[in-house]
Amino acid sequence: MLRPVIRVSAATAALISSPGKRPRNLPICTTAYLLLGSHCSGGCRFCSASARETAGHTRLSRITWPVVDLPVANIISSINNCSEFKRICVQMTIDSLQDYLDLVEQITRLSSISISLSVNPGNRETASGLLKLQHVEYLSLALDAATKQVFEQVKSGSWDQHIRLLHSLAEEFPGRIRTHLIMGLGETEKELVGRMLDLKERNIAWGLFAFFPLKSTPMEHVPQPDQARWRLIQVLQHGILYNLLKNGSISFDSDGKVLNYHKSLAINKAINSGTPFLTTGCPGCNRPYYNERPGHTPYNFHRLPDQEEIESIIEQLNGG
Ligand code: SF4
Repeated sequence: MLRPVIRVSAATAALISSPGKRPRNLPICTTAYLLLGSHCSGGCRFCSASARETAGHTRLSRITWPVVDLPVANIISSINNCSEFKRICVQMTIDSLQDYLDLVEQITRLSSISISLSVNPGNRETASGLLKLQHVEYLSLALDAATKQVFEQVKSGSWDQHIRLLHSLAEEFPGRIRTHLIMGLGETEKELVGRMLDLKERNIAWGLFAFFPLKSTPMEHVPQPDQARWRLIQVLQHGILYNLLKNGSISFDSDGKVLNYHKSLAINKAINSGTPFLTTGCPGCNRPYYNERPGHTPYNFHRLPDQEEIESIIEQLNGG
């Protein structure tokens, strides 16, 4: 029988291929990312795993995902032996849901590390089966787009089905359902903030990423979000996540751009600590360099920014 194609993110590959010898300059990588599938016919206009484009099938955002041609047991044993990993995240393109279920089931038997699943389970029965497995903590059903209109412009499939499933799973499995959002796909800031407020109210946590234009994709010429606006959204995200900002405490102009928000002591304290600028998502998910090339100021920091970095973030926030 053919072995399913398993890829791991570049940093995960570097860590598991050199046991006991951490490659120099490799960023701290606290989650091992696995990706099942050889191709994707999802057709997302921003993604190079989509079969619609020609950039190849080995990238998600700007990260390469080399194939690991080893039995699952060997891959998981290498992950278990690397103390840096606090979480395993199993993602899939849309090859075969059955292969995905088999892989996740196998991983739960081979490792006691907490597991997150990034998958569209299609229905509540499959989600329920996955969430019953030992060590599986969270299931993320990616919206990516903040609104139905943007979803229909950049993704395939039905927004209505997607959001209905997300909402009903969140009611049935409180605190265990998550999603992903991408800033810069064509939404306004008001729409993005509105989606975050709605998710918070429904007890759905999210990971927020910045759009990255990938060569040879239909969106290769769309610019990345302006980093100063991104910082502002990160601050608002933090405020929403930690109940420091409520609906009505943020104002917008007629184009849907954030005009102002209630700058409480708690928000200022958070900004000075650097925490709003960390990667969001499941605990331990830090996705180094997912949104930017190494050497560039990160959109999402995979570790706390240092004092100098915090000062320059504050300058960005102040429009300096
Ligand atoms: S937030 Fe991170 S760990 Fe959680 S599902 Fe998304 S990519 Fe995986």
